[in-house]
Amino acid sequence: MLQTKIYLDNAATTKISDSVFEAMLPWLKEGYGNASSIYTLGRQSAIALTQARAQCAEALGCEPREIFFTGGGSESDNWAIKCTAHAMAKKGKKHLITSVFEHHAVLHCMESLEKEGFEVTYLPVYENGIVKAEDVKNAIREDTALVSIMYANNEIGTIQPISEIGAICREKGVYFHTDAVQAVGNVHINVAEQNIDMLSLSGHKIHAPKGVGLLYVSKKLRLAPYIEGGAQESGRRAGTENIAGIVGLATALTEAEKAIDEKNAKLKKYQDRIIDELSKIDRVHLNGDREKRLCGNVNFSFEGVEGEALLLQLDLKGIAASSGSACTSGSLDPSHVLLSIGLPHEIAHGSLRISMSEYTTDEEIDELLTVLPQIIEKLRSMSPLWEHILKGETFKIK
Ligand SMILES: *Cc1c(COP(=O)(O)O)cnc(C)c1O
Repeated sequence: MLQTKIYLDNAATTKISDSVFEAMLPWLKEGYGNASSIYTLGRQSAIALTQARAQCAEALGCEPREIFFTGGGSESDNWAIKCTAHAMAKKGKKHLITSVFEHHAVLHCMESLEKEGFEVTYLPVYENGIVKAEDVKNAIREDTALVSIMYANNEIGTIQPISEIGAICREKGVYFHTDAVQAVGNVHINVAEQNIDMLSLSGHKIHAPKGVGLLYVSKKLRLAPYIEGGAQESGRRAGTENIAGIVGLATALTEAEKAIDEKNAKLKKYQDRIIDELSKIDRVHLNGDREKRLCGNVNFSFEGVEGEALLLQLDLKGIAASSGSACTSGSLDPSHVLLSIGLPHEIAHGSLRISMSEYTTDEEIDELLTVLPQIIEKLRSMSPLWEHILKGETFKIK
């Protein structure tokens, strides 16, 4: 039986860490009380919830009452964007600013708001995959309701100038949301210092379970609920709290925050090694800025190679990675992220995302760097396109 031995798709999801699992277990078994119930079993859940909220607030640099637990990153993005937009529309502000390469949880919200009559400015990200803070400044208008720019891109790992954008939004009096799902646990975040009004994060990208996340909402905003029903989360997010998931999220967030520097020191070495080695291969392109990127992310395009074929060959060797993003694989369109940095379709199709975690080892990187160049050579030797590419009948990269 085939087996995944080397997991290099941590931007798609991560495994639950042992300590997160241990912290969650009591809340899945004996601690099953409803946090709204008055008796001891319920109060124990309520205490766990309070403690988890305090832990998350500590990790992000905010107050516990500014933390709202949700069902994950997508829900947090939907809530922040749609509810802010609708509230601001009542004040006559119907203009939104975002970037072209956001996660679909943000982009699809923007598109549905456009159908409702909002106007959206999609900022470019240039060849390096980074939004210019100055572009944000120039795009802000009298009627701008919200700026939403992701902290780090999920496909190419580029880190955006969030502090600068936050300062601009503060100065102009415009609300600022960031999807920090990929950044959390990889860069130091302090929402107060960085002038962030709303921040989305997700458990399953940081070794907590799937289906739990949070939205930080600055206390100066009275964001209306997105999920309506009960009075949970101060009446702002209905639904019986997922105590085990929330405890897992808080544990993961605390641990990730503490381990950032140590983890990055290790992953930067792996990243440098991978980039140096893969750059030796003919006709390859590193996607996204060389320096301003998450230490755990490498994204390359290989001319004359089909991304899906590459993934299948890697899978045969027990290596899990991604081409484009997990959400777009299965579709034939190249990812909007790779197109946004100016890659032609043909080259975007031959891309590979390697995303590491603190569990990644030297041996795994050795294996990857042994296997990958061989696979590329094999695929190119089978490709009818490769001959043409070598003869210079090639698609040029800008
Ligand atoms: C994974 C991801 C999401 C979605 O989070 P879920 O918890 O899976 O809903 C949103 N934004 C980014 C940048 C992501 O990587």
